Amino acid sequence: MRTNINAPMALLAAFFMYSCSQPAPSAQTQASAPANQAPKWGMVIHTGAGNFTLAGIAERKDAMQAAMNEALMAGYRVLAGGGASLDAVQATIVILEDSPLFNAGKGAVFTHEGTNELDAAIMDGATMKAGAVAGLKRIKNPILLARLVMEKSPHVLMAGAGAEAFAKQEGVDFVDQKYFYTDRAWKTLQDELAAEKKKAAQTEDHHGTVGAVALDQHGNLAAGTSTGGLTNKRFGRIGDSPIIGAGTYANNQSCAISSTGIGEFWIRYTVAHDICARVQYTHVSIQAAADAVVQGELKPVGGEGGVIGLDAHGNVMMSFNTTGMGRGYVGEDGKPAIMFTEHDGQ
Ligand code: ASP
Repeated sequence: MRTNINAPMALLAAFFMYSCSQPAPSAQTQASAPANQAPKWGMVIHTGAGNFTLAGIAERKDAMQAAMNEALMAGYRVLAGGGASLDAVQATIVILEDSPLFNAGKGAVFTHEGTNELDAAIMDGATMKAGAVAGLKRIKNPILLARLVMEKSPHVLMAGAGAEAFAKQEGVDFVDQKYFYTDRAWKTLQDELAAEKKKAAQTEDHHGTVGAVALDQHGNLAAGTSTGGLTNKRFGRIGDSPIIGAGTYANNQSCAISSTGIGEFWIRYTVAHDICARVQYTHVSIQAAADAVVQGELKPVGGEGGVIGLDAHGNVMMSFNTTGMGRGYVGEDGKPAIMFTEHDGQ
């Protein structure tokens, strides 16, 4: 079942109605449409996957939806004005980083030691250039520094003190660690520490990482991801988000992907690149490629999470093996669609 990014809302509504009458699918997949048309521009975002329900996020859902709409529309305006997918991805992610609601920038989760360490990456599918940063402690918007690593340094990935020294040189905004404090992220750490002490199951609050992919009017793809990582991670741990080919990837020859989930699996399975390689070399749809990896490879081994993507034709992909993944897209019609659980938009 596939839908084009600019599919008329009527078609979408018909699709939703069809889906609601079906038994819940075991794989959380999202529709996308025939790839035999001219590229259609647009963008897709995620705000993290996890085993949550609508009831579980009821208190925050409206605020999250409003922030996601604002972020999507910031990217949409760049694309509608003929701007670059890279700029759309950046504009969208900055808004999500500045919100305390998501595990990126302001709302970053805490390490085991009670500190915040942020990772981010951005990639340009037209040039295959990429920039990434990891283990940042004082950078307000990691995605902006990732972009600068791509454009103003000879490197792809910079970490820790060296990345922050580069940030100083480039005049990037610094904040005190206190800036990243939110009650919710602190409480999640306390719950995880308590569960660890009792050797009980860890909480399932993995959601919150943000990501965006875009296809612009010139046919160029871009992807970006920003995260505080996993609650209770050891200091120095780096996840998949800043690892090109694992959490983030864009290539005009195939697709653009941003991921969320337990990063260790994404790194070992080189998830983002694997999906794009399947699209490029085996000519399967982006949705089929993502499902094969997320549902077929990762789920059986406990690799919880999901991905969003766009192919070079503007086909939208969303795939996750948890009960929820905050996600949304907007196409040429400028009407954003936002979803949270496996039951939305199926
Ligand atoms: N993938 C991120 C990491 O492992 C976390 C997440 O997406 O929630 O750092």
